[in-house]
Amino acid sequence: DRRVIPDVKPGYMRELLPDAAPAEPEDWENIFNDIERVIMPGASSPACTELEMILMDWLCRALGLPVFFLHHHPDSRGGGVLQSSVSESTLVALLAARKDKILQLRAELDQDVDDSVLNARLVAYASVQAHSSVEKAGLISLVKIRFLPTDETLSLRGDTLKQAVQEDRRRGLVPFMLCSTLGTTGVCAFDQLTELGPVCEEEGLWLHVDAAYAGSAYLCPELRWSLQGVEFAHSFVFNPSKWMMVHFDCTAFWVKDKFKLQQTFSVDPVYLRHENSQAATDFMHWQIPLSRRFRSLKLWFVMRSFGLKNLQAHIRHVRNALTQELLRRLTRSGTMYLIPAEIHSKRIIRFTVTSQFTTAEDIRRDWGVISKTASVLLAETQ
Ligand code: PLP
Repeated sequence: DRRVIPDVKPGYMRELLPDAAPAEPEDWENIFNDIERVIMPGASSPACTELEMILMDWLCRALGLPVFFLHHHPDSRGGGVLQSSVSESTLVALLAARKDKILQLRAELDQDVDDSVLNARLVAYASVQAHSSVEKAGLISLVKIRFLPTDETLSLRGDTLKQAVQEDRRRGLVPFMLCSTLGTTGVCAFDQLTELGPVCEEEGLWLHVDAAYAGSAYLCPELRWSLQGVEFAHSFVFNPSKWMMVHFDCTAFWVKDKFKLQQTFSVDPVYLRHENSQAATDFMHWQIPLSRRFRSLKLWFVMRSFGLKNLQAHIRHVRNALTQELLRRLTRSGTMYLIPAEIHSKRIIRFTVTSQFTTAEDIRRDWGVISKTASVLLAETQ
């Protein structure tokens, strides 16, 4: 009953959908009816690509990521794409960074050297706490990866990177990339992007950020302290399938400069050409496989049926539950009586002084009990 080829123009979907995810939840029926209104006129494609671009912009805004990761923004050359895993995205970022550096090196040389010779001089960095997918990306691409020591909080620091880059340059190597982690697999440690970002900029390194698990937390503005420095990133990846209630597989990957991806992955056989090649984004140039799943559909359904407000509440719930447990333990200790309150949907513990006999010493003692009980509780949850 339907046209085989859709008769919509590239960009048709932007007029049908808002620029940002809804704050409030929407009815299932409302969302489901949009399949007919928004998706079906564009059949599997371009609807698949257009919804993904819009959803990646929703997600970018919802996480407070830089505008240069948006598809639809006048100052942006970047955009986001859904990949199947963080491992694959880190490999894609590494291949793009490698291609870019090889092209730079080639432009500086007057003689013709094989890419494999230049590849052999490249070196990338990550901390010893980085996920094994970084090591795997190095194995696949035949690129050396140096795993750098962390500080006592298990985060990678700027000075350590700087020193490693300088040593490698002295040895004739070409540093080209840092795979940093926000939320390491072991203990959820955060590399110091505010220090690492400027080093990457000075030294010409592609800064990739792996926030596989912790990335969902950035839905909550009060948890974005560890995101500072992300303005130096060239690529950023996280798994909504980990902590955002989107079914596996769903990996959100953004790049600052889409042309650097396209120059790495573009091929042009005649059977893949189409009349909108110039006007439309084609995600086959942003990834390793050619075929693509319609992953943005489930992201769309989750973001609308929960609304940003409830997605944030889901992240905060874990912390609220801890606050509640702390309160229970303090009350049971019999040393003080405290009650909970809720401010901006965040659970807090109220500590109020009402007796005329309370001294500063009493408050210091109570604070000691509170912080010790909280430390024990936090240690148990790690
Ligand atoms: N990076 C980090 C920090 C992780 O914790 C994980 C764990 O799953 C990964 C990457 C791998 O993710 P994926 O299974 O999507 O490749």
